[in-house]
This record gives sequence, C-alpha cells and structure tokens, in this order.
Amino acid sequence: MVARRVTALPLGQVRLSLHKTPDMKPQDMLIIDGSMGEGGGQILRSALALSLCLGQSFRIFNIRAARKKPGLRAQHLVAVNAAAAIGEADVHGAIQGSQQLEFVPHGIKPGEYCFDIGTAGSTTLVLQTILLALLTADAPSHITLQGGTHNPLAPPFDFFEQAFVPLINCMGPTLKTRLKRPGFFPVGGGLVEVTIEPVSALLPLYLLERGVLLSQCAWAMVSHLPEHIAERELNVIGQQLGLPTSALEVRQANAKGPGNAVTILIESEHVTEVFVGIGERGIRAEAVAEGVVTAVRRYLAAGVPVGEYLADQLLLPLALAGGDGFITLRPTQHTTTNIDVLEKFMGKRLVCEELGHDRWRISC
Ligand code: ATP
Repeated sequence: MVARRVTALPLGQVRLSLHKTPDMKPQDMLIIDGSMGEGGGQILRSALALSLCLGQSFRIFNIRAARKKPGLRAQHLVAVNAAAAIGEADVHGAIQGSQQLEFVPHGIKPGEYCFDIGTAGSTTLVLQTILLALLTADAPSHITLQGGTHNPLAPPFDFFEQAFVPLINCMGPTLKTRLKRPGFFPVGGGLVEVTIEPVSALLPLYLLERGVLLSQCAWAMVSHLPEHIAERELNVIGQQLGLPTSALEVRQANAKGPGNAVTILIESEHVTEVFVGIGERGIRAEAVAEGVVTAVRRYLAAGVPVGEYLADQLLLPLALAGGDGFITLRPTQHTTTNIDVLEKFMGKRLVCEELGHDRWRISC
C-alpha cells in the first residue's frame, strides 16, 4: 500500500491552473456538451473517468443543463476534486454552480484517499468517477468516502456492493467495499471504505445469460425511524413476490439522521441484481416497496441478466475492456447518453440491438 494520504480539498479549491499546460495544443482538448441526451451529472462523471483512463484532456460546457439547478453541486465538485487528486490534474472552473470545466490529467496516482462530500450527496457517484482509473493503476488504493450512501436517483450502497462490485471483480481486480455507517438525505454522514487491488488490464465482459434463478431475499433498513416502516415494506414484498419470512429481514441502522431503504436481491447463476427503494417523507412505506417490486417483476419477466441501472454503469468498463457485452432491458437515456460520451472519447460506438420485447444487446 502506498503510504500517502490525500484529503479532498474544500469545495472549489481544486488545484487551479490559470494557464494551459505548455505541451497542450488546443486540438488535443476534447469538447463535451453537457446538455446532450440526459443532460445530467453522469456526463461529467463519465468524462472525468474516461479522461483519467485515457489521459485525455477535455473541456465541458452546459454542465447539468437539463437539471433544475444546473452546474456543479457538492457531489459533482467532490467528484472533480477526487479525479483531480488521483489524476494530478490541472483544473479550471471547479466552483459551485459552474457550468464549464476544463480538466487536464497528468497520470494516475493510486494510494490512500479520503473524500468528504460534506452533504448527503452520493458517495457511490464519486466512486463511479475515480474507480475505473484505479482498477488498472500500478499499485493498490484505499478510499474512504463520507456523504450519502442511500440516495434516490443514485446507486445505493447495497446495489453497488452486491451487483456492481462482483461484476468488476470478474474482470480481474479485487474490489472490497465496507459500509461503516449509512448516510441518508438530508443529514448525510455515511461512511464507506473501498480497497482496490488493481490488474494491468481488465478482462472482457460477457453477460449474455442470467442462468438459473438461485435465490431471492429482501431487507429493509431503518435508522431513527419506527421499525413498523420496515415491517410494512417487507410485508408487501413477501406477499407480492411470494417470499417466505425467512427471506425477509428488518435491519436497524445507526445513521447520523433518520432514513429508510428497502432492498431486494435476485441471485441468478451468472449475475446478482439488486433493486432498492428509498423511503421518503410523505410516501407510504407500502408505496416504496411496491415501486421496488414493480422493477423486480419487470426484470424477472424480461429474462435478461442486466437491469437498467447496471446497464449504464457497465458501459465504461465494457468499452475499455472489450467483450461481447451484455443483454439488458430497453436502454435508458442514461445508457444512450453514456454511449455518446464514450464515442466522443474513444471514437468507437457501442451497439444497441433490440432482440425482443424489453430485451436488448449492448456490445462493442
Ligand atoms: P444530476 O443529473 O442531478 O446531476 P446525478 O449527478 O445524481 O444527478 P445522473 O446523471 O442522474 O446523476 O446519474 C445517476 C446515476 O445513478 C446513473 O448511473 C444511474 O444508473 C444511477 N442510479 C439511479 N438510481 C439507481 C438505482 N435505484 N440503483 C442503481 N443505480 C441507480
């Protein structure tokens, strides 16, 4: 383990360079329009991840143009700071609300890092930004992140750990994750640790079949909230998916603030998929559980290995490693937008092919 410790700089205080690096020619700088497709934070994160992996500088404008509050917010800024620390990058425009950013990486520096989002912003989305580069770095890394771990509209920690990480490990590296404390909106304060044993190159990704369904289980987590919330969620799941009580578990957590998340895990021969609903004030526990059940039913009915969220998150590893790709549900706008970003950086387009009702193949 490299005995170096870099802490994310406070918001907006990324190492700012006022000039382009002398060896940088304007034509080397890739230009990305952040308003394309989905027009959200994923375009920025994917651009940062690819910039690190390929050593490609880029300038992005219209950052998060399609969102109500466009520009960089806390989670995006920490993602930029994290990428800048790991890529020893020169950065322009990394301030709250900025809709433009220039990023010039100078290598990959594995080691020990600690990134604190300071809000309930998603820790897994920050990880998404830096992980890929560290998977093929020349030494191991140990990352600590503080922030949200169970956020709506972001990969919940349980999904990340049980669905995404095992597939990455199948590609060669050894990635280990640990949830030390969950973090929910609005308080945050979740704590996640990740260790990465890299490989020199990722193995190709093949996920064309789900295989036999091996097991289904669900758990509902509550922190500083009545246990009946979790029990009601699990009742709905047990009844609607026909799961025995032995497959249902209430988990008490001690986050810094109140929160609730309900998770259904579907283990198949070749892949484990995870579906999560996040409890929200004003939304009944039964409705949260029903939303997750609907997603599970769709996945089971389609017979595909890869669900819609896993699909957009596997595109970068797939494009970098190659392989036959995977079979998934109808591509979301996050997926098609990520394919556009990949084409910009790599000059090659992943192919989406409709195979049948809600059954698509994505390949290199
Ligand atoms: P914004 O668009 O406001 O900038 P954002 O930065 O949070 O938001 P998006 O661009 O919307 O990000 O990307 C969200 C990411 O979170 C996508 O990769 C998507 O697959 C993932 N995601 C969202 N919900 C889930 C879920 N329930 N399970 C797993 N992953 C999820």
